[in-house]
Order: sequence, then C-alpha cells, then structure tokens
Amino acid sequence: MKIHEYQGKELLRKFKVPVPAGDVAETPEEARKVADSLIEGPFVVKAQIHAGGRGKGGGIKVAGSPEEVEEAARQILGMTLVTPQTGPEGRLVSRVLVEQAQEIDREMYLGIVIDRSLARPVIMMSAAGGMEIEEVAAKTPELIIKEAVDPAPGLMGYQARNLAFGVGLSPHLLRPAVSFIDNLYRLFITLDCSLAEINPLVVTKSGEMLALDAKINFDDTALFRHHDLAALEDPEEMDPLEHEARKHHLNYIRLSGNVGAMVNGAGLAMATMDLIKAAGAEPANFLDVGGGASAEMVTNGFRIILGDPNVKGVLINIFGGILRCDVLANGVVEAVKQVQVKVPIIVRLEGTNVEQGREILNNSGLTFTVATDMRDAAQKVAALVG
Ligand code: ADP
Ligand code: MG
Repeated sequence: MKIHEYQGKELLRKFKVPVPAGDVAETPEEARKVADSLIEGPFVVKAQIHAGGRGKGGGIKVAGSPEEVEEAARQILGMTLVTPQTGPEGRLVSRVLVEQAQEIDREMYLGIVIDRSLARPVIMMSAAGGMEIEEVAAKTPELIIKEAVDPAPGLMGYQARNLAFGVGLSPHLLRPAVSFIDNLYRLFITLDCSLAEINPLVVTKSGEMLALDAKINFDDTALFRHHDLAALEDPEEMDPLEHEARKHHLNYIRLSGNVGAMVNGAGLAMATMDLIKAAGAEPANFLDVGGGASAEMVTNGFRIILGDPNVKGVLINIFGGILRCDVLANGVVEAVKQVQVKVPIIVRLEGTNVEQGREILNNSGLTFTVATDMRDAAQKVAALVG
C-alpha cells in the first residue's frame, strides 16, 4: 500500500526523523492558512499524488508569500499532473503540501527496502540525491553504499556510520545522520514497510539534515497488524477495479492485455497467464479467486473482470479441489445474470464435481466454448480475441 508524501512526513515526525514544517491543504484558502501559520517564506507548494517526478510536470512551486502560496495552490489543485511516473493519463491533484522552503546545500538519497535474496532489509545511501535511484544504480553503482541489516539484533551503530562516511558527510553531521538512519529504520520495521525512501535527504545551508521527500510503502500482508494505517489509503489513487476486488478479498491485479482470466490458485493463475502469452495474446488481469472461494466470490470476480472495457474474451481455468466445479459454475451463472456479457467465454474445468459444473453451465443458456485442456483453452481464447 502506498501513501502520500504528507502522510509519510507525519509518520517521520512521529519517529523523530526531521522534516520541514508544513501541512496539507485541500483548497487554495487552506493552503494560504498553512503558510500563515509557518514562520516566514519562501514556501513550497507540492502536489500530492502517488508518483514522483512531480517537479518536472509543474507539480511543485516555490512561493514567496502566503498570497503566492494561495495562487500556486489554485494552479496545482484540480490539475491532471503528468510526470515520468504517472503514464500519459496523469493523476488528478486533490491535495497540496505547503511547507517551508529550504536552502539546500546538498541533496542525498536514503532508502530502505527488503532484499529478497538476502531476506533482510537493506539500507542504501547515495551522494547522488534527487535523481532516480534506478538511474544511479545503472550508471554509477559505486555511488550507492549498502548495508544489509540482520533484523534480530537490528541496525548496528557501525553500519549507520559506514553509510554516513560512505557518502562523505563531514564529521559534525555524523551524529545527526546516524540518528536519522536509526529512526528511519525503526519506522520501517515497526510499521512493516516494504519501502521507506527519502529522496532527497538534504543538508541545508544552516547545517540541518532534513527529509525533503518521503515515499513510504507498506507490506499489504502485514496491514492487519496496523489498523490505523489502513485509514491512510487513498481510494482515488487506486485502480477502481482493484479497489473493488480488495473489498471482496479477491487477489486481482489489472494488466494491459485483453484476455480476462479467472483462475483458482496463484500458481495456476500465473501458469495460465504464461499460456495466454505463449498463445500470442496478452492477459488483462491476474485473478486468483482462492482455493475456498464461494459462489459469491466467483460472481464478484467475474463482474470485476468484465468491468475492464479492454477485456475481449474471458478464460475460466479452474481445477476443482476445495473450490468445487459446481460452486464455480453457479457463481459464473449468477454473475452473468447481473452483468451483460458481450464477450466470448472459454471454460476449462477439471476436478471435483466437474460433471455437475459442466451441466450447470450447459443449462444456463449462456454461450461458451469448452476447452479440452489448458493449452487448448489459451489457444482458443487467443484466436477469439484476434
Ligand atoms: P519528486 O520526487 O516528486 O520530484 P521531491 O519532493 O523530491 O518531489 O521534490 C523535488 C525537488 O524539489 C527536490 O529535489 C528539491 O530540490 C525541491 N524541493 C522539494 N521540497 C522542497 C523544500 N521544502 N524546500 C526546497 N526545495 C524543495
Ligand atoms: Mg523525490
């Protein structure tokens, strides 16, 4: 789960990671009030969307006075901001963060991620701040200093010092840097983050270390441990179909192809996507309805697949184990009653109660093509969508 910069900065404050003074606003008038409450200008007005590269798209403006803040907020709020990370469709801006502008001496990068091969959090720091870290990694990997942390004893003092020395911080900044890294690591672990990225982390002309940006992602599977974090989710930023799927506890991920796929089990779903691609078509989604799905979940899943206007054909690939084929068939029939189906459906059913399942589908009045096996199913659907 992703959150906005302003929400990330509130969390950073709680964990004693220094950030500029500021607050979020939803109207130009509110933005001006935030500026009034800050000591003095200049100020920065920043569009709040779940994507970076905002400066380049006109989503970050410097303002000298509260009046100028109001004006900048008027320009940014309601705009569809296009950045290198949003795709050409851009994102609608509904909030801005108004904060104290900083006089920057140097910009650095600090990020924490889980390294899956090491099975540990890795802290990365780089003197090349402000740039995309992927670009730094590709062109000048020697500029990235890394420390993998053993989660049992936690972050060691020497590791934080290695990072700080590695990016060439002067000795008087060592202490603030070590506590900055320490506190960010504590936030990362305590909140079950999958990413905590400060880009840029700056040293100001007056020698302060501050997080100027904050990108914090949470591990969805750990959200049940943090009920207060769920409230930070912004439905406007989510794909509406994925949002709907989450409500029904369905594992649905929207993709860019045109073959909708309804499958039980994540492994089978991935294999099905591979077969669709091998047959020359592109999957429109990943959907694992789960091993023990009810007819109602199948109905919702089918409705969500068809909610994507790109879908030109649906492949139902079910191996009836715990989810019986008759339950699946009833769910599909129920869904078809609720939504108009204008696209061809290919079904491959095997396993428990497969005969009843086929019969239910046969008697439903619904037209569909039965496939003999998985490969046949993928080839049939690929041929149908052209
Ligand atoms: P994004 O990652 O979306 O481009 P950032 O928050 O990283 O947005 O901001 C982009 C740049 O804008 C920063 O690298 C920094 O130079 C400048 N900036 C952001 N916030 C401030 C601030 N409070 N004071 C001064 N400059 C800022
Ligand atoms: Mg940034």
